[in-house]
Amino acid sequence: MKEMDYFLSRLRTDFIAQFGDRHDGTIQIPVLTEDNGVIEASYFYGDSKPKNIAVISSQIGCPAECTFCELGGEKFTRNLTADEIYEQVVLLLQTAAGYGFDLDSIDHKVTVANTGEPLFNPHLVKGLEKIAALNFSMKVSTIFPTGTKARRIVEELAQFASTYHKPVQIQTSLISTSEEYRRKVSGIKLASYAEIRDTAEYWRNLNPEGRKFNLSLILSGETPCEINDVYEKFPPELFRFRFRNYVPTENGKRNLLVEIDPERMKRIKDSFEEKGYEVGDWATPTLTEQKFGLAGNVTRRRYLQMIGR
Ligand code: SF4
Repeated sequence: MKEMDYFLSRLRTDFIAQFGDRHDGTIQIPVLTEDNGVIEASYFYGDSKPKNIAVISSQIGCPAECTFCELGGEKFTRNLTADEIYEQVVLLLQTAAGYGFDLDSIDHKVTVANTGEPLFNPHLVKGLEKIAALNFSMKVSTIFPTGTKARRIVEELAQFASTYHKPVQIQTSLISTSEEYRRKVSGIKLASYAEIRDTAEYWRNLNPEGRKFNLSLILSGETPCEINDVYEKFPPELFRFRFRNYVPTENGKRNLLVEIDPERMKRIKDSFEEKGYEVGDWATPTLTEQKFGLAGNVTRRRYLQMIGR
């Protein structure tokens, strides 16, 4: 893989942590930008994963300030450039190779999901176009802000997906099936369910053979989740649901979030399946993620604590 010889000029790191083993593990990297920003990049692998996953960031800080997010109320600094988006993947691959992974023999997916909201970054698609040279499938995970700026970027992404030869998925953090609850957990105005539906139809028109629009629900004990709230709005032909149980984090504890009872989680999943949705266990946090409390941006926060920032 020629990226092994690529010289990283915009990003660096001085701390790398590996958790778990080859059957269920992750490499976590707080990544430093030239202007002293700290973002998070992570590499996941294991028996339950059909591909190794490189998870990268899109911004330094985040304007959304979601109550459940490990970034907490940290202020937005700036968007990452296309080169910085690309270099995170190279850094992860070079690190994974150093840990003995034979990258040429492994399928990969790149997910934009760590620090920042990708649909605020106008350089997002340029960054993905650079990553496309690696022939990896891709996923963009968004909380889905409302407004023309985010819509423009998602349209650009849909165009890119329609020309790229590997799958490109979009995943919206729906947060809850209650629109009112969803509105309250973010510091920005989020897209309504009608806007999300309209975007999914736009996406499907450009990508008729592509993956369904993913709606992600990370459920804590108190999260409202009721199939009848969403069945009419998000039909199973267009959408699939990704359920994940909330892993306790510092910020979650401050916001009094508690873990969901497994029985309730099962009942919810069953109710969605009965209505014809594709519901997978592919997003369930692995034992390693649970043991070390590894939700997005946790390693970054621990790193900042270690260096007293
Ligand atoms: S969950 Fe995503 S959009 Fe919300 S504050 Fe965290 S990084 Fe930003």
